[in-house]
Amino acid sequence: MAQSTETTDWVSRFADEVIEESERRAPGKPVVVASGLSPSGPIHLGNLREVMTPHLVADEIRRRGHQVRHLISWDDYDRYRKVPNGVDGVDGTWAEHIGKPLTSVPAPKGSAHPNWAEHFKAAMVDALAEMGVEFDGISQTEQYTSGVYREQILHAMKHRGDIDAILAQYRTKKDPAKKPQSQKPVDEAELEAAEGSGAAAEDDGSSGSAGYFPYKPFCGQCEKDLTTVTAYDDATTELSYTCTACGFAETVALNEFNRGKLVWKVDWPMRWAYEGVVFEPSGVDHSSPGSSFQVGGQIVGIFGGKQPIGPMYAFVGISGMAKMSSSKGGVPTPADALKIMEPQLLRWLYARRRPNQSFKIAFDQEIQRLYDEWDKLDAKVTDGSALPADVAAHSRAVGTAAGELPRTPRPMPYRTLASVADITAGAEAQTLRILSELDPTDPLSSLDAVRPRLDKAEAWINTHVPADQRTIVRDEPDAELLKSLDEQAQGSLRLLLDGLADHWSLDGLTHLVYGVPKVQAGFSADATPKELPPEIKTAQRSFFALLYHLLVGRDTGPRLPTLLLAVGQDRVRALLGE
Ligand SMILES: [Zn+2]
Repeated sequence: MAQSTETTDWVSRFADEVIEESERRAPGKPVVVASGLSPSGPIHLGNLREVMTPHLVADEIRRRGHQVRHLISWDDYDRYRKVPNGVDGVDGTWAEHIGKPLTSVPAPKGSAHPNWAEHFKAAMVDALAEMGVEFDGISQTEQYTSGVYREQILHAMKHRGDIDAILAQYRTKKDPAKKPQSQKPVDEAELEAAEGSGAAAEDDGSSGSAGYFPYKPFCGQCEKDLTTVTAYDDATTELSYTCTACGFAETVALNEFNRGKLVWKVDWPMRWAYEGVVFEPSGVDHSSPGSSFQVGGQIVGIFGGKQPIGPMYAFVGISGMAKMSSSKGGVPTPADALKIMEPQLLRWLYARRRPNQSFKIAFDQEIQRLYDEWDKLDAKVTDGSALPADVAAHSRAVGTAAGELPRTPRPMPYRTLASVADITAGAEAQTLRILSELDPTDPLSSLDAVRPRLDKAEAWINTHVPADQRTIVRDEPDAELLKSLDEQAQGSLRLLLDGLADHWSLDGLTHLVYGVPKVQAGFSADATPKELPPEIKTAQRSFFALLYHLLVGRDTGPRLPTLLLAVGQDRVRALLGE
C-alpha cells in the first residue's frame, strides 16, 4: 500500500476533515464521497475536476486504511436538452428527441452503445480507468426506473409545500443555478439562453394551477418531460398529468410508477441523504444564493440528511484547442488529453492545485514546458530534495492506494521525443537510431523503453502542431545561401563540421553548437557566460539562425542538438556544404 502523506497538502487536509465528519455522521461506516456527471454529449475535460477532486481525497482516505466509496452519479435520466454541434454520426434529426431521458435517445450512428448516454459515458469510463480512478458508477436511469427512490419521491410529494417554501425564497432573484456538470465553456452562451427561456424551471419544478410539484413524469406516449401535473392525491398517491408535446394524459399511481424523476434541485439533496454523501465539490458558479448547492443544503433536511462538505472548484481552462479539429464537437475530452500526455501528468495538474485555484491544461507548445517541470520534480523526488507538498502532489500523480500506474521505463524529455517525432514522421527505425545517439554511453535498445511517452509526443505533433510549425528537413543543400556566405560564416560551419564526429550525442552537440561562436571569437569553448562579452550571445543567435536556414529553411526549429541528431551526420554534412 502506498504511503499516506499526512497533512502536507490540500488533499490531506480535506481527508482529515472528511474522515472526522464521516465518523460523526455514520460511525464505523465507509466514507462516501460523490461526483455527478451528465453524459449529455462529449464530457468536457474541464469537468474532470468534478471527479478528480473527490478522487484524490478518497484515495488519501484509502491510503490511510479507511473504507471509502467514491460514487459517480451518471445523470443519464436527465432530459436531452440540445443536439451538440459537430458530433460524428449525429444530424439535425436528433432534435426530435429533445425532452426525453438521455438513455432513451439513440446513440450516434455507428456507435457500439445502446443509447446516447451509454455512448458518451463509455469514453469517460475508459479515460478514468487509464487514470487509475476507482469509483462506483450509479446510473440514475436504473435507480429511478427500478423504483429505488420510491419512498423519497412520495416523501418529497408529501412535503411539497415545505420544498416550495424554500425555493420561493430565491424565485424572485435571477436564477444562476446550473448543474455542476454543465461547466462547458463552449456551451455557456447556449445554456444561458436556455435558462432565460425558462429551463431554470426544470431545475426546481413548476407551479401549475394544481400547485407546486417537485416531480415530473416522462410522457407515457412520447417519452418527453414536457408534462404538467394536474392533480395529486396524497392518500392514494394518484397522480394525473398531461403532456404539452403530444396531448397525452393519464392518471397513474405514484406508489408503483417508475417513469419520472424529482426535479434537479430536489433530486440532488435527496441523493445526498440517500447515499450519506460526506464530500461532494461543485463548480464555482454554485456559490451564489439560490444555486443548487445552497438550496440543496436547506432541502436535504426534509430527507433527514445533511449537506456534504462541498468546496467550490475553480474553472479549468484549455490552451491550444482552437487549432484542433472539431471532429468531436470541438469539445476537448479527457480522452483527448490522454492521447498527448501520460495519466501521471494529468493527475499531477489536478493534485498540485487547490480546488479553488484555476489552471490550464495545455494542448499547445506549453505542454513541453509542463513536461520539463514534471521531469524536474521527478528528479528532485528521487534525490530527496523536493518540498513536502511537492512530494505529496507527485505521489498522488504517479499512483493510487492500489499501486503505481504503469510508467514509461525510460522517460526521455517530451520535448526531445516531440522533435524527433516531428522530423521522422513516425519512422520507427530512424526514431530508434536518433534516440540511441542521444546518449551513446547508454544506447536505447528498443522503442518500448520510451513508450508510452513517445506515442503521446507523436500524437501531439500530429494533431496539435499546425502544419506551418512542422519541421521539414531540406532535401538538397541551399546552394545559393552557401555560396553567399562570408568568411566568418564559412569558418563557423567548418568548426562545426570538424567537431561533429567527436560530439555526436545530445550533450556533446549542445557543447559544440554553443562553443563554435566562442572559439571563433578567441575564447575557450568551455568559457562561461561571465567570462564572455555580451556580443557572443548575438554571434550565437546568428550562427543558430544560419544552421536552421541550411537545415530546415526557416529561422527557427527544434533545439539544434536534437535537430542535428535527427537529421543524421551524413545529411548534416551534405546540407552544410561539405
Ligand atoms: Zn407526450
